[in-house]
Amino acid sequence: MRMIKIEHVNKTFTTKSGEVPALQDVSLEVEAGDIYGVIGYSGAGKSTLVRTINLLQKPTKGQIVINGEKIFDSENPVKFTGAKLREFRQKIGMIFQHFNLLSEKTVFNNVAFALQHSQIEDKNGKKRYLTKKEKTDKVTELLKLVDLEELSDKYPAQLSGGQKQRVAIARALANDPEILISDEGTSALDPKTTNQILDLLKSLHEKLGITVVLITHEMQVVKEIANKVAVMQNGEIIEQNSLID
Ligand code: ADP
Ligand code: MG
Repeated sequence: MRMIKIEHVNKTFTTKSGEVPALQDVSLEVEAGDIYGVIGYSGAGKSTLVRTINLLQKPTKGQIVINGEKIFDSENPVKFTGAKLREFRQKIGMIFQHFNLLSEKTVFNNVAFALQHSQIEDKNGKKRYLTKKEKTDKVTELLKLVDLEELSDKYPAQLSGGQKQRVAIARALANDPEILISDEGTSALDPKTTNQILDLLKSLHEKLGITVVLITHEMQVVKEIANKVAVMQNGEIIEQNSLID
């Protein structure tokens, strides 16, 4: 099954100093269950590309289909806003180089924060917010998954880089996403911690069957974990293949 289909996407930023072509005719297909690596130097357009997947960035041109749903089409604009867009974004978890944790909240509450607007359907198909107990149970389960139960009451400043990224991963998984995007998620970590986080991502991929898109500038990271890879340069995909090739 195809999870992500990006077709002929262009993104041009208009700045004071002129037009910046951040993406040029980019096409990419990610199958459900892939660990898809996107590698390239700084400025290649990697972050812009992944930000189009959850429409944090709207392409200038092209089409994007996620899990069978067309979320963007420059030729036939689709209405994808409000509650629909919010719900859609919950199905895509994201982690970043600098973790983006809330410094005044504990580990537990950093993860719980991601559940504050989450809704589930009751048996009559009616939507309701999670109860306090449901939230507590879910956060506890997530912290267990990333091996952080014991640090639940700590604050981000009391954690190592690897532990901070584990919190961010737990938070990214809070709404049971179908896709997990790591945008340079290991770039601020030392080699040993990088490997631990990659091992965690691998095990989550196995346990949860989640599709992973992994952005990095490090070939080692892609080799370690990805089954497919695209190489970006100057806003273009210059090479694309499975790692076996
Ligand atoms: P990467 O993640 O591969 O380092 P980016 O996607 O961040 O690359 O950036 C690609 C290009 O787009 C760069 O030239 C960058 O300066 C430019 N760019 C990114 N975001 C913006 C923005 N919001 N406004 C203007 N230019 C941007
Ligand atoms: Mg980037």
